[in-house]
Amino acid sequence: MKDIKRYTVTSALPYANGPVHIGHLAGVYVPADIYVRYLRNNGKEVLFIGGSDEHGVPITIKARKEGVTPQDIVDRYHNIIKKSFEELGISFDIYSRTSNPTHHETAAEFFKYLYDNGKLIEKVSQQYYDEEAHEFLADRYITGTCPHCNNEHAYGDQCEACGSALNATELINPKSALSGNTPVLKETKHWYLPLNEYDAWLREWILQGHKADWRPTVYGQCKSWIEQGLQPRAVTRDLTWGVKVPLKEAEGKVLYVWFDAPIGYISATKEWAKEHNTDWKPWWQDESSELVHFIGKDNIVFHCIIFPCMLKAHGGYIVPTNVPANEFLNLEGDKISTSRNWAVWAHEYIEDFPGKQDVLRYTLTSIAPETKDADFTWADFQAKNNNELLAIFGNFVNRTVVLSHKYYGGIIPECGELTDYEKEIIEKMTEFPNRIGECIRHYKFREAQAELMNLARLGNKYLTDTEPWKKQKENPEYVKTILHISLQICASLSILCEPFLPFTAKKLQKMLNLNNKNWSDGGRHDLLKAGDQLNPAEYLFEKIEDETIAKQVKKLEDTKKANEADNADVIPAKEDVTFDDFQKMDVRVVTVLAAEKVAKTKKLLKLKVNTGVDTREIISGIAEYYQPEDLIGKQVLMLINLAPKNIKGVDSHGMVLMAENADGTLSIMQPQKRMKEGSTVK
Ligand SMILES: [Zn+2]
Repeated sequence: MKDIKRYTVTSALPYANGPVHIGHLAGVYVPADIYVRYLRNNGKEVLFIGGSDEHGVPITIKARKEGVTPQDIVDRYHNIIKKSFEELGISFDIYSRTSNPTHHETAAEFFKYLYDNGKLIEKVSQQYYDEEAHEFLADRYITGTCPHCNNEHAYGDQCEACGSALNATELINPKSALSGNTPVLKETKHWYLPLNEYDAWLREWILQGHKADWRPTVYGQCKSWIEQGLQPRAVTRDLTWGVKVPLKEAEGKVLYVWFDAPIGYISATKEWAKEHNTDWKPWWQDESSELVHFIGKDNIVFHCIIFPCMLKAHGGYIVPTNVPANEFLNLEGDKISTSRNWAVWAHEYIEDFPGKQDVLRYTLTSIAPETKDADFTWADFQAKNNNELLAIFGNFVNRTVVLSHKYYGGIIPECGELTDYEKEIIEKMTEFPNRIGECIRHYKFREAQAELMNLARLGNKYLTDTEPWKKQKENPEYVKTILHISLQICASLSILCEPFLPFTAKKLQKMLNLNNKNWSDGGRHDLLKAGDQLNPAEYLFEKIEDETIAKQVKKLEDTKKANEADNADVIPAKEDVTFDDFQKMDVRVVTVLAAEKVAKTKKLLKLKVNTGVDTREIISGIAEYYQPEDLIGKQVLMLINLAPKNIKGVDSHGMVLMAENADGTLSIMQPQKRMKEGSTVK
């Protein structure tokens, strides 16, 4: 076993084209944070690195769509993401970004070093070029017909209709997304990392070296990549947004985002070291450092094969000891998707559940997708809070601290003679630091947290078995002992819960007047001294009501409806009509003078309108979408010669025209500028 002097822990750089959601948190950031907090509590030297990945084509596409610069997009999301992490207690030592000058410099130097030392190969290939925009086209900028399923909107790298991976040159009738023109094939030169040359090394390092300690899912993916035969991989692209390739002949080319992003971990370390007046190199180049990458399963090939090959090609760097990649988290049975807005967003959660960061952390760890995909549901979130955090952990601590205040004015009572039962409890307590730590060291965070709850259960059971509230009169000395021991268990919990529930740990330590203890102290039963004063009891958790959960479920249902409406088929066109048929309809601009709800109905409003021809009353079925006051004074379009009909006692003459979405949502139709009442529509 090597002697580990320091831990370099990285977490996948979130892509700065959207906020982070619970899938990211459960997959990467919460487990990484548990790991580093545990190491720090054990007095280890740790550097926890994060940052935003700000290059790549999706960011340029989003910028073009919104008519802003890529820098605008990454500034927006970098700030939202960084704030979410801070608020959730993800304890980065540095949270950087790949648009920083230090990173551009570091990544360019890294490339140049490989280039100068003959580690890269050059290749000329044919790529699509837009002659009007004067740009080579990234795969995502080319659309055309899929050769497999005839979907006319396939991209240059993939058809989303049939899921086939494509080469841009396979598309039938390709079009540039920039100009709409047909692109032409043009020669372009790129630099490739010959992964095939590292085959033997990868087999030895991963397939033989990490068969036992890497997660089977991670090992299995690596094995399948290696056995398929590795090919040289392009590390440059024809693009303007990114790290410029530092060669004269590479005008208009940048480093491929997957080449520059992992170097971001190194750049961030340099930034951190500069700020702290220390050397960055030991964290990356000293054999006594342990490198661990926390990532999602979609990043395995980059962190287990490509980045290590880059480091190996460069030389002088350590490679990761472990890459504990997680599977995916689903939401209410459906795949989480940024583009479909099917997610629980971190920044929205913090807004909706202030002070409840630990409830989310707890829930996500309890369902962590460590070995297979997992599912987050709001009902489960509520149950985890109410039945576990509140009913077990919170209840035990609250009973203990409240009784100590009630009986002894908050002064910690003396411990009397121990019965066999107390001895047994103390014996069990001593096992927890190692039992929980063992799980964390093996990246089994779900199991580690379950063990933590077993300690809370032990305390809760002890109180329930000994019932101090019933013994205070007849046996006050024994009650002192019970509460003394229970307080020691609270102290133990406050230390051992810190990696999982950092906000709760802080609150609990404040109640107990306990500060900065080492992990192994979590097994002691003499942490608190008799005679010391406790602070007032505070609730660690509170009940989450059904209404709160119903609101979140409704939010998701609304998203689902909106998505369905977006994807619904358009109603087929009706039969042609003659101009005369159309002329029969008398459509006018009218002004709404008054509006009120029709009693005992949900959908109906009674409107009084000025049609220019007359003033009249009509009934309109829009009450679910408009309040009466929203409509008064508005101009709308109305068919004024629809035969009158008596509805709810009103002679309704005419019909307000409305657009209807596939989900039934209604919108009134308004002229673009103010028109005279009675203006005809033709
Ligand atoms: Zn297809």
